[in-house]
Amino acid sequence: MIIHKNFVGGNIKIVSQDENTVYVENEMRDTNKGVDWFYWAFCVEGAQGQTVTFRFQKNRLGYFGPAVSHDLKTWKWLGSCGENEFTYTFGINETKVYFAHDMLYHPDRFFAFAAEKGLTLQEFCKSKRGRPVPYFTIGKGKRKVILSARHHACEATGNYVLEGVLDEWLKAPIADTEILCVPFVDLDGVLDGDQGKERAPFDYNRDYRMEEPSIYPETAKIREYVEKNGCQYGFDFHSPWHIGGSNDHAFIVHKLFTKTDRLRAFGSLLEEEITPTSFAYQTKDDLPFMEEWNLPSTCFNTYMISWKGNEVAFSFETSYYGTPENPISQDNMIELGRCFARAFKRYVQEKEGRIPLSQA
Ligand SMILES: [Zn+2]
Repeated sequence: MIIHKNFVGGNIKIVSQDENTVYVENEMRDTNKGVDWFYWAFCVEGAQGQTVTFRFQKNRLGYFGPAVSHDLKTWKWLGSCGENEFTYTFGINETKVYFAHDMLYHPDRFFAFAAEKGLTLQEFCKSKRGRPVPYFTIGKGKRKVILSARHHACEATGNYVLEGVLDEWLKAPIADTEILCVPFVDLDGVLDGDQGKERAPFDYNRDYRMEEPSIYPETAKIREYVEKNGCQYGFDFHSPWHIGGSNDHAFIVHKLFTKTDRLRAFGSLLEEEITPTSFAYQTKDDLPFMEEWNLPSTCFNTYMISWKGNEVAFSFETSYYGTPENPISQDNMIELGRCFARAFKRYVQEKEGRIPLSQA
């Protein structure tokens, strides 16, 4: 049996191993000291016919055990696990099995989607580690919309939602509108399997200090675009913390108090657009400004919503697992994105320019 991380998104350290039990830990890499994060993903080869238990630190497994895949494309939940461990019996034909904290979103999936839809990806910039970072634009017009995901490398659920948004958008675009889409902002982290949240000295989503230049090439380019073109709408797709409470839902993160009424209006439209096959969303799960961890901070969200002429901007968080009543799947995250695009279209048609700033 070989356990390794030699694939896109791989992240694991084998601490010790006896006959049928493997003790593993995730790698924190350049995460700021004192920050505990939970992302891991590994591959097991050559374990056919064996039953093996994988034991972790605390807070590494969700309600349904690990996500399991044989090709890094299709992911299913194992379905159960112990408190900090799961056990897997490898079938006689299971030569290679991937296990991960959540349902990974491989960049190749996005490239295949883009090719199918006729989207032309171009090089936005070179990443810190020298890779070409893809982006594309759709449409032309005065209304500038920024769509992004993976400011935090491990937050794969955001990519599924983004794919759904684009899928719906392409079927029914809004006139006079240009979308700038950067699907993998921290591309290096996505490919190398970094968790990416709270990187030292600060992570990609914190790289929006108004008075300071960006330290990451991707965020510098996003800001350059905004400074040149503006940003009427900015939607940044994330995953929240590991599990529990608000982390089990999809929710809009409200920044500042000035656009609360607009954010609520968007949320109400999204709630109306949710279909039975979508991951559920309810406005009551939205995170108001100054509650829980949502304090004033330097981030994409604050930067865009503060931009002159911005109508509305927010981070949209989608749980890694959901709940037993509303479990995450690849399909229902994509459908959530389609619902999001329909809500956005309605917002533009029914609300844009009509909701005054709050007086708070
Ligand atoms: Zn995030």
